[in-house]
Amino acid sequence: MHIAVLAGGVGGAKFLAGVKRHLGWDPYGAAPADTDDEIVAIVNTADDIRLHGLQICPDLDSCLYTLSGQADTERGWGRAGETWTASGELAGYGAEAPWFSLGDKDIATHLVRTRMLDAGYPLSSVTAALVARWQPGVTLLPMTDDRVETHVVVADPAATAGDPAPLIALHFQEWWVRHGAGLTPQSISPIGAAESTPAPGVLEAIAAADLILIAPSNPVVSIGTIVAVPGIKQALRSATAPVVAVAPLIGGAPVRGHADVCLAAIGVESTAEAVGRHYGARSDQGLLDGYLIATGETADVPGVRVSAVPLLMSDPDATAAMVQACREVAGV
Ligand code: GDP
Ligand code: CA
Repeated sequence: MHIAVLAGGVGGAKFLAGVKRHLGWDPYGAAPADTDDEIVAIVNTADDIRLHGLQICPDLDSCLYTLSGQADTERGWGRAGETWTASGELAGYGAEAPWFSLGDKDIATHLVRTRMLDAGYPLSSVTAALVARWQPGVTLLPMTDDRVETHVVVADPAATAGDPAPLIALHFQEWWVRHGAGLTPQSISPIGAAESTPAPGVLEAIAAADLILIAPSNPVVSIGTIVAVPGIKQALRSATAPVVAVAPLIGGAPVRGHADVCLAAIGVESTAEAVGRHYGARSDQGLLDGYLIATGETADVPGVRVSAVPLLMSDPDATAAMVQACREVAGV
């Protein structure tokens, strides 16, 4: 079984742990040496940001750390057993950006990545080098080697009250982390996506897959940015494998994060049905053959087989059952 998965950060990583479990693998370790099965994750890079001269790839790192058993699952991001000495010192200097904490262990990842990028290696090669150390069991591909950055246009929070506030564009991380997604977006755009190309292996993985899964990642700033890379949507549409998505909303609300705010910015209602219709049917210019929604909900997505199952990724076994349901709805 060759499975290709479109994934963001924490939601994507949790889902991938369940895909590994579904294949009978250790969700938090290397793939078995003798397996013919393969999992390729195509990961969002539009959240990436350069801080303190370091290139940070939060979604790739969430996948890398989670799938190799190095993630801090309590905190929900970063490395387990982390220390914060460097961040504390940077804050002491008043160095930007104090709102983005970087653990000491994590900084080592960013140092190695930035050094390789500065030496001319593409992000896909750098990611392969990081994977070689951590053995997450899954092939991790950045969606593109090109620079794509989600920017969020908001009314300037520093504007004087009374006047119509000028609009400013914030980097996604500044909007999400610094402002807690609390400033209403006028628009959200993956800057650079239109000029980007898929990273090596991305189109090949989609074409070679027996099953293509869209993780319950943020439909706008994780999945939306991946399919904004020219060629990826077309590859999904022409793939021989069925494509199944998992709703990131349960009871109309994100399980974690602010997907509802992101959806509102692109004019999509915060319901599983609206997200399914936004993805659309492959038979009608869209992405999907199948779609999983949460038990007790209904969704009418024309041209798509919808199945209602428990959607809480409480542990890899529960998530593996979701993957089994994806196969059933896809008939593979
Ligand atoms: P990020 O890049 O770290 O923000 O993570 P992703 O974009 O990969 O995933 C975020 C999305 O995962 C959010 O919209 C959540 O609602 C969704 N999510 C998180 N946990 C669960 C879960 O247990 N079940 C489902 N269905 N969705 C989840
Ligand atoms: Ca992300």
